[in-house]
Amino acid sequence: MADIDKLKITIIRDECIGDGACCDDAPNTFELDDDGIAVCKAGSTDSRDTILEAARNCPTDAIVVEDVDTGEKLVPEG
Ligand code: SF4
Repeated sequence: MADIDKLKITIIRDECIGDGACCDDAPNTFELDDDGIAVCKAGSTDSRDTILEAARNCPTDAIVVEDVDTGEKLVPEG
């Protein structure tokens, strides 16, 4: 099972400023849509660490990542 299948990723569209930082950090996981807002790509093979780092580096905390198994919120950190 790919790491991304164990993570629930939510992008808060109103918070995304479309700078593309997440796409640079995890290009298999994030891309900008036609509106210039980040979305998740299907079938990412990026590692858990790569995905989490990209989410943490979002300047507006627009990416929320939760562990599917435990429900724990991993990013942003409390
Ligand atoms: S890093 Fe954050 S603000 Fe930048 S494109 Fe990704 S989700 Fe949007």
